[in-house]
Amino acid sequence: MEKIRVRFAPSPTGYLHIGGLRTALYNYLFAKKNGGTFFLRIEDTDRKRYVEGSVEKLIQSLVWAGLKYDEGVYLKGSVADGKELKNYPAIVEVGDHGPYVQSERLDLYKKYAEELVAKKMAYYCFCEPERLEKLREQQTKDKQAPMYDKYCLLSVSEAEINKNLKTNCPYTIRLKVPSDEVIGFDDLIRGKVSINSNTIDDQVLIKSDGFPTYHLASVVDDHLMETTHVIRGEEWLPSTPKHILLYRAFGWQAPQFAHIPLLLNPDKSKLSKRQGDVAVEDYINKGYLKEAIINFVALLGWNPGEGSTQEIFSMDELVEKFELAKVHKAGAVFDLKKLDWINGQYIKKMAADGLYENALPFFEKKDFFTQASVDKKNEEYLKKVLTVEKERLAKFSDVGEENRFFFQNTVCEKEMLRWKKITDEEVQKSLETSQKVLAEIAEKDWTKENLEAKLLEAAGDKRGDLLWPLRVALTGAQKSPSPFEVAWVLGKNETSRRISQALKLF
Ligand code: GLU
Repeated sequence: MEKIRVRFAPSPTGYLHIGGLRTALYNYLFAKKNGGTFFLRIEDTDRKRYVEGSVEKLIQSLVWAGLKYDEGVYLKGSVADGKELKNYPAIVEVGDHGPYVQSERLDLYKKYAEELVAKKMAYYCFCEPERLEKLREQQTKDKQAPMYDKYCLLSVSEAEINKNLKTNCPYTIRLKVPSDEVIGFDDLIRGKVSINSNTIDDQVLIKSDGFPTYHLASVVDDHLMETTHVIRGEEWLPSTPKHILLYRAFGWQAPQFAHIPLLLNPDKSKLSKRQGDVAVEDYINKGYLKEAIINFVALLGWNPGEGSTQEIFSMDELVEKFELAKVHKAGAVFDLKKLDWINGQYIKKMAADGLYENALPFFEKKDFFTQASVDKKNEEYLKKVLTVEKERLAKFSDVGEENRFFFQNTVCEKEMLRWKKITDEEVQKSLETSQKVLAEIAEKDWTKENLEAKLLEAAGDKRGDLLWPLRVALTGAQKSPSPFEVAWVLGKNETSRRISQALKLF
């Protein structure tokens, strides 16, 4: 069997889009599952859209996500663990391969385009932009799809062409698209796709600036790089018949194609590039775990099928279970609530060390944290806070937000301390009981379990009467984790101090 080779071929136009991450992931999974090669190619031939620094960002995001490519553009230094995210390292050439950067291969594309001209499969076009613009305007007015009228193919003589070339007249090279032919291919996800060639414009292959268009560069590279499967977003589906024509013109075998479904907003509109929250970096900066993002992105248009209800997948499981045949045709809804849920599942499973490491940079950005006393900033204390918070935390940027009382003193109103209709006296008594029960627990026995057992024992069948005033005294909040958990985090002294503080209201 042929060795599978797939590529991720982003254009460096700013950042890694979440849809781009999914394309990269599906290619990666397909390669890993089939013992193939996954390579990275930077498609930077559209100089108008090029954004300085975006190659580095793209690579950083890929490496952060754990999508290591086997060939292509490499980074200096070790960024394998994603720790160097802030300082994008320089790109260097290493090994026999790469960097696969299209702007460094311009001569090659030109050579191949000229080959097509020699074979009469493509032709020089000397039309000036003004003529093309007029043509477009007229066609639009006549309600026709704007298309090149093949003027330079039909009406410019060989002698004229040679003269124009000699006098350095600016030109483009266009593909000679045959008329009235059905161009078809079998898409591995969408099945049979076909289109009449009359709807295909004579594509520009080489622009007047000498740069190839996406179509030419992509086909030449996929051929030379021996791509076996082109797995890309559905927005590229209309380009594929053009590519098929190019493969045919060159006499090359086309790779297999798989177009993965569009990403949609929850209202089913197309997820745009401009809308906020589509850059992978944004998710990194919000404190989503890479495992959760990968898990979430994998499910945007794929699931293992066969009635599986599994939603949490490790990278290894994805590699094992991923199949192109199970990728859906219908658009995939990008639902942030689902991402929060998945991330929450991963956070719940994390041990204290991992929680601390991930959360600390986010704590350090919060005023309630920076202004807290020293004893509330140490590792041990934060780990306790996180052990309690992890049950409800969706992402690390939310740390502490719901439970600021762990860092700030609580000033609660007397009314808030009241459970249902109990009297002032009963509230006061309740707090005194808690104070007494807790005073009897030694520091070394100050565990969540002990606190819970002792307080429940004292409460008997009147749990609310005892636990509500205590919880509010400790937190000052209507909602919070249980008083056992809060008291455990705060520690014996602070717990006692906060109860005394509340008792002063009586
Ligand atoms: N450079 C294209 C992009 O920006 C790649 C399309 C393809 O995979 O052929 O997505």
